[in-house]
Amino acid sequence: MSLYRLENVGYVYNDAGQSFRALDEVNITISEGEFVAIVGASGSGKTTMMNLLGLLSSPTEGRFVFDGEETVSLGEGDRASLRNTSLGFVFQHFALLPRLSVLENVMLPYRFSDRLDGPALERRAQELLVRLGLGDTFHNRLPSALSGGQKQRVALCRALLLSPKVLLADEPTGALDSKTTEEVLALFEELHSQGQTIIVITHDPEVAARAARRIVLKDGKVQEDVLQRQPQVRAPASQSSRSTTSSHERTPLSFLKGVAERLRRLTKGVRSALNDLAAHRLRSALTGLGLMIGVASILVIAGLGAVVQNVFNGLFYNAGTSKIYIWFDGEKSAAAGGMRHWKGFDLRSEFPAFASQFARYGTFRPFVSTRSCNVRSPSKPARAGLTGLYDPAEFVELDTGLRAGRFPTALEMASGANVAVLGSDTVDNFFTKEDPARAEADFPLGQSLAIDGCEVLLNLRVIGVLEKRDTTFGQRDANDRIYSPANTLLKSMGLRTVSFFSILPARDVDPTWLGKHVTNYLAARAEGGRQFSSGIPAEFIEKIRGFLLIIQGLTGFIGALCILVGGIGIFNIMIVTVTERVREIGILKSQGAHPHHIRNQFLVESVTLCVLAGATGIVLGLVLTNALAFALSVFQPTLGGFQPVFTPWGLATGLAVSFACGIGFGLIPAVRAGRLEPAACMREE
Ligand code: ADP
Ligand code: MG
Repeated sequence: MSLYRLENVGYVYNDAGQSFRALDEVNITISEGEFVAIVGASGSGKTTMMNLLGLLSSPTEGRFVFDGEETVSLGEGDRASLRNTSLGFVFQHFALLPRLSVLENVMLPYRFSDRLDGPALERRAQELLVRLGLGDTFHNRLPSALSGGQKQRVALCRALLLSPKVLLADEPTGALDSKTTEEVLALFEELHSQGQTIIVITHDPEVAARAARRIVLKDGKVQEDVLQRQPQVRAPASQSSRSTTSSHERTPLSFLKGVAERLRRLTKGVRSALNDLAAHRLRSALTGLGLMIGVASILVIAGLGAVVQNVFNGLFYNAGTSKIYIWFDGEKSAAAGGMRHWKGFDLRSEFPAFASQFARYGTFRPFVSTRSCNVRSPSKPARAGLTGLYDPAEFVELDTGLRAGRFPTALEMASGANVAVLGSDTVDNFFTKEDPARAEADFPLGQSLAIDGCEVLLNLRVIGVLEKRDTTFGQRDANDRIYSPANTLLKSMGLRTVSFFSILPARDVDPTWLGKHVTNYLAARAEGGRQFSSGIPAEFIEKIRGFLLIIQGLTGFIGALCILVGGIGIFNIMIVTVTERVREIGILKSQGAHPHHIRNQFLVESVTLCVLAGATGIVLGLVLTNALAFALSVFQPTLGGFQPVFTPWGLATGLAVSFACGIGFGLIPAVRAGRLEPAACMREE
């Protein structure tokens, strides 16, 4: 039965506009079980012929039938499968992969087959190696630790692993000394005697003499085709071994096995990608740098958002920022040519009427706050301002909490009880270090303070001490004040009018609008061109929020630029990697790698590089944001202390971006690598 049938086959190289006819009108038929030598002078077309017979390239003219198939019409994938299952190659320069062990090199064809009997094949590989004189001790060595003859025997084992129909050898002894040449030829003869079809390409007449048939090429034409001996008439050995191997039945078990095998190959791929990256450590690190910085910036943006959120939560809580403060503005009035003074609303008649007019927009309260008054404590005279509050909740708005004691009760608030909650810094102002009161169990709770001056004369009993308040946004003396129920102060201060008050806007009322509305109303109503001002902490905070948004946007822009530049770097390095490894690609293709195998290998490599860079970027980003949050907590301890920042969506985005970069920037080089012509790759040295 004929294995090859070539009819009028020609091959024309087309390089840079020059065409060269390397094969012309070749007509040969090779049957199973033959041992053929193809000989000829250098440049006669032997390697071109070998590429055709090995399905590494396709004839440009004529009919080419291999094993009953018209190969010219086959796609590259089908040709790769045929190389994998039916062809075994031995090359002059061994074509072993330097980073794979001897056993892994022999197992290479298995990687590209759809067989699932890996362990059985591995045993076969070991048996083959032993049969060819390479015992156990060699199996885990790297090819670089072998002699030429040993390398060629490893290559021969690899070629025989999947029991190919044809063993194709291109100058198999060209790089060997005479002794090992003899060994390899003896092996060929032995294989031939067992029925193996062998085609050897050589320029060495001695090698050619060992074959049963000799085909001589000259200038691309068959000059001579002679039988030197009768061919073996044995049934080919490959037949029997093949029938036991391939099992294409689709059972649930084989499906699971297939999935497990795919996973195993993927982890192998990732591991070998890591090896390749480690082999160019500095280059990989530099290439990944841009992406790393880009991903880190994503984490910083996400983290910054979280830090800012924490800070603002603290601030809103601290400063009662939803409040609006409205006051008569003497300077503004004078500037507008109006009256500099205003006695204010009468507290008993005018203010309640005014407040009820706007009741549906918010709660209006007279602002009760004194300048610094004399405070007489038992041990030390001092000064402090007083602040009156209306609602126990205001204490909570004011500060994160109490350091000691309690807030006034609702009853104490309503009735104007003589109680006080001290700002954190006042305790040391009022009581000397030596004060005997400090020895008391609940100090300073229960201590009595006499307030004198500021139209006030009253005794206050200390019921609580506040934690330190944040004074970043005004209220610079907040920690030096005494806080009491507003009713207590109003009662004793004998206050009759008010020109400064606060509004707690109702839900769904825009504070800015309400502030403007109320000041306009007052200005229109008041006589003498009086002007009013409003202060809305929330507006201030909105401005800061906007500013931070700009910073986030800028960081994002820089991050995106880094990712783009980093991605172009990865694109570039992938092209370099593919170019550097054209020979390796050729070897893999000769062993049956499909274009998609090669493409996926390079994709795995670029994704591994990118995900590695991305993961480093994520760590860097997390460290940076947490350092930032920590620094903030050190410089602004009142904002709620250090909270570790961990942003799952930033992390997910970072990983997704890295993965996408690996695919996006690796795809074109990877696809190009997959599409390279196998014969062209093998020519590369
Ligand atoms: P051999 O293996 O017998 O030395 P080859 O098959 O390698 O010969 O080459 C046959 C002829 O084709 C040579 O003259 C060579 O110069 C030419 N050739 C080989 N490869 C190319 C190519 N890529 N482009 C153009 N000409 C080529
Ligand atoms: Mg050659």
